[in-house]
Amino acid sequence: MNAPADADVVLVRHRELGTKSGGVQSRMEERLRRNLQGMLERRGITATVERRWSRVYVRDTSDVEAAVDAAADCFGVASASACVSTAPEMDAMVDAAVAVAEDVELSPETSFAVDARRAGDRSQHPFTSKDIEEEAGAAIVESTDADVDLDSPDVRVGVECRAKEAFVYLDSHEGPGGLPLGTQEPVAALVSGGIDSPVAAWQAMKRGSPVEAVYLDLGDYAGVDHVARCRESLEALARYTPDGGIRLHRVPVGDVVSTLMEETANTRMLHYRRFMYRVAEEVAGWRNAEGVVTGESLGQKSSQTAANLRCADSAASMPVHRPLLTWDKQEIVDLAREIGTYRSSKVDAGCVSIAPSQPATAATPEEVRRREPHGLLERAVDCVDDAEVVEITADEIEGEIDA
Ligand code: ATP
Ligand code: MG
Repeated sequence: MNAPADADVVLVRHRELGTKSGGVQSRMEERLRRNLQGMLERRGITATVERRWSRVYVRDTSDVEAAVDAAADCFGVASASACVSTAPEMDAMVDAAVAVAEDVELSPETSFAVDARRAGDRSQHPFTSKDIEEEAGAAIVESTDADVDLDSPDVRVGVECRAKEAFVYLDSHEGPGGLPLGTQEPVAALVSGGIDSPVAAWQAMKRGSPVEAVYLDLGDYAGVDHVARCRESLEALARYTPDGGIRLHRVPVGDVVSTLMEETANTRMLHYRRFMYRVAEEVAGWRNAEGVVTGESLGQKSSQTAANLRCADSAASMPVHRPLLTWDKQEIVDLAREIGTYRSSKVDAGCVSIAPSQPATAATPEEVRRREPHGLLERAVDCVDDAEVVEITADEIEGEIDA
């Protein structure tokens, strides 16, 4: 990251919150502020986080660069920049911009551009953003002899002038965007520890919904390290929560799977998935969550054809959300790498061991209901009663995400 050496504040920008009405925006910004404060505390970074002028600012921090990294992991953040703060006056801003340009060693061989924004009462600032760009640009040329290149400069010097303060910065570090975690209702996320489901859960979190993770433990039918991989995925996801924790519900379903092995054939995966949604709904009801999230995508497996998704859905009374419905596998893998869940999920974690050799690809809900073992779906309640609840924390992997 290109941060000014004497940066003293982190400027945190959001995007979509600006489309909300005043009261909603203000509540969401406050949530963003608190989430970021929590994230910094958990990472051992002392700081004060404040909200002003539709922005969030991290001040008095022990580590500006680490604070920028934390902001970039915080849902709702569009971007964050390490800044030098100064008075919102032309001379002060120009001096700060020159100091930053000299510090980054702009020279006659390099090019730069100044991008300025100005907000606030015109009577307070007798200049426009263009005036700032021109004056700061001229002063930087005078001091460094660097070339101005507005299209593809080597270095961009940003200036943001607000009512009572101005900020000068170099890079903007991109955040995940979305909405602050906790601004939407929780959802139950079915997480298998494969590649897809942690990405789907992350997408729901990105839109503001905390997740209650649900893992179906297939007992004798599960792969040897399935649970471990599920836990690792959640450790990676927990990094994105303000308190660094995610609750996992590990639901033992081995007996139900035995029934399915004995009593079903080519429609087995559909019964299993119907049962799986029921389990997730049961957890959702328990935790006041409002829906179920899965990592399914159209046509990825025989159980994920449009017809079969319909069949499976007909067992659920809550909406089943599929953030990855239209994603190609490669797109999912790319995001998994970016968010740090990939390492833990290289092997197919689905239910390969119980899949029939010739699965039905276009069953009808009537047919599946007819072939369903008696009382199968109702067994979800007892299984969830036996669930083991574990708080998964991010601490073990902090700082070692291998993208
Ligand atoms: P993943 O989709 O997590 O990478 P996968 O692709 O091997 O694993 P699928 O068979 O495609 O798994 O399952 C589709 C979805 O069903 C998963 O994305 C996940 O949401 C859910 N799921 C499958 N198995 C389990 C399980 N054992 N526990 C919880 N959820 C599961
Ligand atoms: Mg999958």
